[in-house]
Amino acid sequence: AGRPDWLRLRADFPVLTRQVHGKPLVYLDSANTSQKPQPVIRAMDEFYREHNANVSRAVHALGSEATEAYEGARRRLAGFVNVPPDELVLTSGTTFGINLVAYSWALPRLGPGDVILLTRMEHHANIVPWQLVCERTGAKIRVVDITPDGALDLDDLRSKLTGDVKLLAFTHVSNVLGTVNPVADICRMARKLGVVTVIDGSQALPHRSVDIPVLGCDFYAFTGHKMLGPTGTGGLWARRQHLREMPPFLGGGEMIKEVSFEGTVYNEPPHKFEAGTPNIAGVVGLGAAADYLAEIGMAEIEAREQALLAVATERLSAIPGLRIFGTAPGKAAVISFLVEGAHAHDLATLLDLEGIAVRSGHHCAHPLMAHFGVPATCRASLAFYNTHVEIEKLAAGIEKVRKLLL
Ligand code: PMP
Repeated sequence: AGRPDWLRLRADFPVLTRQVHGKPLVYLDSANTSQKPQPVIRAMDEFYREHNANVSRAVHALGSEATEAYEGARRRLAGFVNVPPDELVLTSGTTFGINLVAYSWALPRLGPGDVILLTRMEHHANIVPWQLVCERTGAKIRVVDITPDGALDLDDLRSKLTGDVKLLAFTHVSNVLGTVNPVADICRMARKLGVVTVIDGSQALPHRSVDIPVLGCDFYAFTGHKMLGPTGTGGLWARRQHLREMPPFLGGGEMIKEVSFEGTVYNEPPHKFEAGTPNIAGVVGLGAAADYLAEIGMAEIEAREQALLAVATERLSAIPGLRIFGTAPGKAAVISFLVEGAHAHDLATLLDLEGIAVRSGHHCAHPLMAHFGVPATCRASLAFYNTHVEIEKLAAGIEKVRKLLL
């Protein structure tokens, strides 16, 4: 096989050949959503051109082809994270997955005196669903702090993981700081105390090898569009016992075995949690994305992104007045930064005129921004399809903009 040819792989992404404001696009917003390679686009296109039908309903040829394409994608995706396909619920993304756990697992089980433990680095998708549960149950949220370099404060975690904690939800990789949390160690701690763990894998799956059983969590949610797949796709893995015990979240077609007005017999998991016609073509595309990533190799991708991150960090750190948020060892290729005297939005707007796409804002993490005492940051997030030339353009772009703004 040999080492991946990164420039050839980059050529699989049609949008990366675009010009923006007369300049070649430099796409550094992959933590927000990744770009899509030809095999993913082709898989969805082919589904609609040749196989389109609903799943699990029709006996005709196209119906069984569609069902096979959908279930085949589930198997490939399950293989990608090393779990049995019947433990993988297909969802519209991380947000849906976490809400499913909140409504089906937490809502019937929690009450006054119970605690949901979160961390300060969570995305709103891993905060707000738990607040909704607390409003209805009387449970309370407690928050684990972070260290100045943006790592999880494990001493603080230990001290807050007390007998009243029923659930611990935290991110695998921070979308703002790039911090990679020691998921397996933390889950081991929680498990000893009988605390159920929910992991937000949104930013992990696209960038490193994730073997869910090794992590020892109870639930693992992820989103398809950040891992080269289409928007509106994702998955939630849950321990079989939870899937059996949890009531359905949404009711409708597909999730039943038998319905009468006296009552309904639910389908087996994972179908029990997949009410209604799913995003069939999207899931097919996500299956192709998992294959594409696996073909390159997650270890190769991680090494490539770490090399780009090292250069970018060194280059950006040398710019006067530039501050990077999140410097924990082993972090992922996400660089949140501010330049002294410049507003994040002004920076991002002027960088856009250079063809450089970075995100500015609160990154759906208000509590984390409040912790650092800033309303917003700029964030350059990398993927394997980025190049060293693009890193240099980012640094040169920031230097130019800085002179304009100061
Ligand atoms: N968690 C994290 C860490 C994220 O970065 C994101 C996406 N920005 C989400 C959750 C939500 O993912 P989605 O919007 O695809 O449901």
